[in-house]
Amino acid sequence: MTDLFSKFDGLIEQRRALLDTGVTDPFNLVMERVLSPTQAICNGRETILLGTYNYMGMTFDPDVIDAGKKALDEFGSGTTGSRVLNGTYAGHKLCEDALKEFYGMDHAMVFSTGYQANLGIISTIAGKGDYIVLDIDSHASIWDGCKMGDAEVVPFKHNDIVAMEKRLKRIPEGAGKLVVLEGVYSMLGDIAPLKEMIKVAKDNGAMVLVDEAHSMGFIGPNGRGVAEEQGCLEDVDFVIGTFSKSVGTVGGFCVSNHPKFEIMRLVCRPYVFTASLPPSVVHTAATSIRKLMHAGNKRAHLWENSRTLHKGLKDKGFQLGTDEPQSAIISVIMPDLERGAMMWEALLREGLYVNLARPPATPANMTLLRCSLCAEHSAEQVQTIIGMFERAGKAVGII
Ligand code: PMP
Repeated sequence: MTDLFSKFDGLIEQRRALLDTGVTDPFNLVMERVLSPTQAICNGRETILLGTYNYMGMTFDPDVIDAGKKALDEFGSGTTGSRVLNGTYAGHKLCEDALKEFYGMDHAMVFSTGYQANLGIISTIAGKGDYIVLDIDSHASIWDGCKMGDAEVVPFKHNDIVAMEKRLKRIPEGAGKLVVLEGVYSMLGDIAPLKEMIKVAKDNGAMVLVDEAHSMGFIGPNGRGVAEEQGCLEDVDFVIGTFSKSVGTVGGFCVSNHPKFEIMRLVCRPYVFTASLPPSVVHTAATSIRKLMHAGNKRAHLWENSRTLHKGLKDKGFQLGTDEPQSAIISVIMPDLERGAMMWEALLREGLYVNLARPPATPANMTLLRCSLCAEHSAEQVQTIIGMFERAGKAVGII
């Protein structure tokens, strides 16, 4: 018998070697209690959260929590069914109505996660004989959506408009084309030049899907994302998003103006063949999305936090993923996995949680300490965070 686990031996060995150095397992942390969007108890210690994607701090919003509690009482704990059978409740419709209004689009479809939204929409709309042209740094859910469908998959160099155009021009005449982009790329926190890229896509007869998971609620005058910020949202055929970041719960969605979009509800397997989100989740999401429409002050404060942290870390000598802050993600580049893990642990001992990101999730084999800011971080907390980075960075010998 061949042990089917032997393919993981390299990774098992690498993990053992890392833990043998005595560092805490960075992928096994338990949040023992969560006090607020920016604070939790980890290892018995009060810890500032700087790696949650909880950009707008909606997880503890009193209206959001009330909506969830009320839905639990009125609709029970779960739907026990698919959206196309017994699993469409009033709350799912409330969510879809809120999304249509939020994006100013005709159609909205709620999935159980953002991962499933990408998986479902990409694998369903791009079929046999079609081509998907996508950024090489795309999220795993986008790659998995490509893998699940039957289309030809053509990647191009990250954010490279010329490379994208070359790939598009090589596609045989008459084939269907889907260009897949992200507003914010979550590893380095950089944004895409969507306006130029979408123009090239359209000039070459492609439909465009943009994953705005990391920009919803924050980027753009109404928080609709990078496409809104750059004035090209009308040219996007499909926006994919998630409830697991700014919305502050769990779930995924696609919004679109395509006149035939509703047929997706019958043909998209990751929508049909899985249970729908629980009532408490969709009611919290709908309430949160509506509040995000009027969150201009929070957006302004989050930008302030992003600029302060970026400048503070850069001034202390850290190497960052972008020259200027482009989103609410500030990535700190580590020299290697071992020192990355040491730094991660030193920060945790200081009372700060960030994400340790490593290949294959990261581009160019980088080890990153990824910080995601929240609109609820106070200016004082951001200064505290910079101090923690400075002490930990000196202790580990990174600065
Ligand atoms: N797209 C992107 C760009 C993401 O970063 C993520 C999650 N990190 C997803 C989709 C999946 O979202 P969800 O957590 O809702 O499955």
